[in-house]
Amino acid sequence: MTTYSATFQAAQAEELQRQLLRTDGCEHAAYILFNKANIHVDPWHRQTHIKYLSAKVVPVPDEQVLESTPNLISWQTASFIRRLKEAATNGQALAIIHSHPGGLRGFSLQDDENEAELVRLAQNRNGADTPLLSFVMTPDKVLTGRVWLSPKYHAPMRLIRTIGDSFNLDYAGRGTSAGRQAFDRQALAFGKALNEDLSRLRVGVVGCGGTGSAVAMLLPRIGVGNVGLIDNDVVDVTNLNRLHGARQADADAMAPKVQVVARSITELGLGTRVVTKEAWVGDPECFDLLKSCDIIFGCTDDNEGRLFLGRLALFYLIPVIDLGLAINVTDAEPPAMEALDGRVTVLTPAKPCLSCRGVVDAARAAEEAMRRDMPALYEKRKAEAYVFDEGNPNPVVVTFTTELATMAVNELLQRLNGFRGPNGYRANQLRKFHLMIDAKPGAKPTAGCALCDSDGYWGKGDVQPFLDRAS
Ligand SMILES: [Zn+2]
Ligand SMILES: [Zn+2]
Repeated sequence: MTTYSATFQAAQAEELQRQLLRTDGCEHAAYILFNKANIHVDPWHRQTHIKYLSAKVVPVPDEQVLESTPNLISWQTASFIRRLKEAATNGQALAIIHSHPGGLRGFSLQDDENEAELVRLAQNRNGADTPLLSFVMTPDKVLTGRVWLSPKYHAPMRLIRTIGDSFNLDYAGRGTSAGRQAFDRQALAFGKALNEDLSRLRVGVVGCGGTGSAVAMLLPRIGVGNVGLIDNDVVDVTNLNRLHGARQADADAMAPKVQVVARSITELGLGTRVVTKEAWVGDPECFDLLKSCDIIFGCTDDNEGRLFLGRLALFYLIPVIDLGLAINVTDAEPPAMEALDGRVTVLTPAKPCLSCRGVVDAARAAEEAMRRDMPALYEKRKAEAYVFDEGNPNPVVVTFTTELATMAVNELLQRLNGFRGPNGYRANQLRKFHLMIDAKPGAKPTAGCALCDSDGYWGKGDVQPFLDRAS
């Protein structure tokens, strides 16, 4: 069985709200062009899944509207044909959306009839396997959607996400579930809908070291239903000071970090589904898992992994919450603290990327790629002192990795629930632990940056090569 979902860029969702929710109290309509992400197998639910990613909004021109009342809208099909052509040319899927000013969350019998006609038209023009997407928006901005596969059959949108500062979720029955007792005390703080949202989410954790294991152990306890772990490292005795869930026996057995963290999550008994990939994040075997995620925590300390996730966030409209900890000390014994900085950065469209924030080092990323893909050449360069030496291990202390993880998970709660209010979002938060200062360093897109100074990659979905990335 194939399931379906849709993700809207916030700017496009807001444009739709302006077009459709007018003060005249009448129905209005628009077209949306969607790019696609094909997921061969969602690793949690073993289903084929198609994510539609919003690319463009086009209002139905007012002069083509034949009738618009509080209960009805009809318009000439000329603009529909034009958009069908555009969708076929760009390999995109076309959607129609209209408003229900009376508040009906779902489709009327009239909608069923009208839309079946449009499906027929679409499949006659663009081919029998052409889907037509349709949505309804109510005045509370809630979206309901479906995918027409033939004039007689449509499948529901499992989930509709809107990704901006806040992450909004719409799905059938939201707010009606009984809730799970283990999370009752959290519902007392944030309400029941947040628990329901969390139980549906698929959340990836890339990197299962100090910060990653801490994030991964917090997620089931806030009620995240599906957790995916990616890491290609094994437990070493020097990890035991900070790796949540790891034991001496795991270090002795050189157990993969993902297995150790997955075991600890399962032992909580909260019903969390956990899937793991023991691989580098950019390995194609991780792609289905990554593309299936609704949110990803980037807890890797390699520059190349960070750059990879930064692109993924924009191409697939999957917010990446990137964590970094830097402890710099003098050579003295005991060392003096020079910097003890924790950073949480949220990567979404319309925000500066990690390169433009100066967080990743492109030269180091290139060396990391060389070390992985061409180890012999890398060793030669290292011997010739042409590459950075990894040098001594970095200092790291569990209290700071764990506090950083907590900051990041709290940012997720803010994005979903807004408990800090409309000014409580932090695209980039820096905590100077040793100075007891929080900062929010700003940044601007570098002129010409393909990721953040242009919207060309936002919501692009599947392209060849993956993420338009030379490999
Ligand atoms: Zn309707
Ligand atoms: Zn940039």
